Amino acid sequence: MSKKLIVAGGGIGGMAAALALHRAGLGVTVVERAPVFGEVGAGLSLWPNATRVLQSLGVLDEIMARGEAVTRFNLQRPDGTSISSISMAGYSTPAVCVHRADLHRALFALLPVASLEAGQVMQSFAEHAGGVTARFAGGREIRADGLIGADGIHSVVRAQLHGVAPPVYRGYCIWRGIAPDLGGLVRGHISETWGAGRRFGIMPIGQGRICWYATRNGPPAQPDAPAGRKAEVQELFHDWHHPIPALIKATAPADILKNDARDRNPLRAWGRGRVTLLGDAAHPITPNVGQGACMAIEDAATLAKLLPGAADLAGAFRAYEAVRGPRTAYIARQSRRIGMIGQWENPWVVRGRNFVTKLVLARPPDVQLNAVYAYEV
Ligand SMILES: Cc1cc2nc3c(=O)[nH]c(=O)nc-3n(C[C@H](O)[C@H](O)[C@H](O)COP(=O)(O)OP(=O)(O)OC[C@H]3O[C@@H](n4cnc5c(N)ncnc54)[C@H](O)[C@@H]3O)c2cc1C
Repeated sequence: MSKKLIVAGGGIGGMAAALALHRAGLGVTVVERAPVFGEVGAGLSLWPNATRVLQSLGVLDEIMARGEAVTRFNLQRPDGTSISSISMAGYSTPAVCVHRADLHRALFALLPVASLEAGQVMQSFAEHAGGVTARFAGGREIRADGLIGADGIHSVVRAQLHGVAPPVYRGYCIWRGIAPDLGGLVRGHISETWGAGRRFGIMPIGQGRICWYATRNGPPAQPDAPAGRKAEVQELFHDWHHPIPALIKATAPADILKNDARDRNPLRAWGRGRVTLLGDAAHPITPNVGQGACMAIEDAATLAKLLPGAADLAGAFRAYEAVRGPRTAYIARQSRRIGMIGQWENPWVVRGRNFVTKLVLARPPDVQLNAVYAYEV
């Protein structure tokens, strides 16, 4: 008999899981608290480890058509000189930058409408012999064989399993914006520019749009400057290389988002019984390596490999967690470390950092990059 699963949360992780499990022949219901399914926000970089999964799910062609392939990642100084440049050639699938909404739409379009329920705020779950019951605001209950908590960094499923705890702030905030393509960028190249306590990234995301992000050290939950969010970012990066000031100038103020860089320390055990976690609910990752959504996509593919043949659902969930725990903890650690180094402020330390980074990234093949990008679920 086919198993029936509830996926709590219809973000990128939940949708990828639902599609992978549906393709593997399992019954899935995705419950999402928002009144409609969708994604807002800015762009995402998707690296070969995730595009390999998207290809197997049949959505990569659409993502490539809507987004923009990445052939090279350039690391620069604020005056525009190069620290390093990494080729993305040689992987079995490409890297791509895409708007979150385009990725979400591509996953959503392939799922049966009957498996998607919006406007359902999950509040708790109860395990019982042979199943699990998810409870929602308004009193509704849904019973299934298993529950996958894909409900993001403030997951209620995680809170019920492990207690409520705030995410860990890592010392800097991140602004993101989308500007029209002003021309002049080398197609396929994305870049990150490292200053002192500040960084700026540029990624074309297709359809004439450039996604940019900027960071700055400081205490958590900083309010916008009195002059406004856009003016604040303009002031911080006004003397950085072209086209940074022009991109900020061309961005509508309402399109600039601001988040604190946060993650959580790895869990020793993700789930219990017929309940597990996926994506940011299990392992939120700071954005420094662009792998948070990629890890959720890898999680989805792993579940879809382990669940279909398993007689014991709880055992299959534990096997999934045993595979995904070390991998996601490693990526989260790497991301946190790169963020810490990228945010160093002392000018002498920054000079040394740039010099060492240049040497380290010049050694081919980069074993650490391969460990991330060449991974096959
Ligand atoms: C600034 C920034 C830049 C990033 N850049 C990249 C990048 O370039 N590449 C990359 O791979 N990753 C990136 N990430 C990480 C990526 O955004 C996340 O890892 C990814 O979106 C996680 O997806 P998710 O589905 O697990 O969680 P979410 O996207 O948070 O989705 C959770 C879903 O659950 C729903 N939900 C929550 N609570 C409930 C409830 N009680 N009941 C029902 N539904 C509920 C929410 O409404 C939401 O739809 C970035 C993150 C940030 C902050």
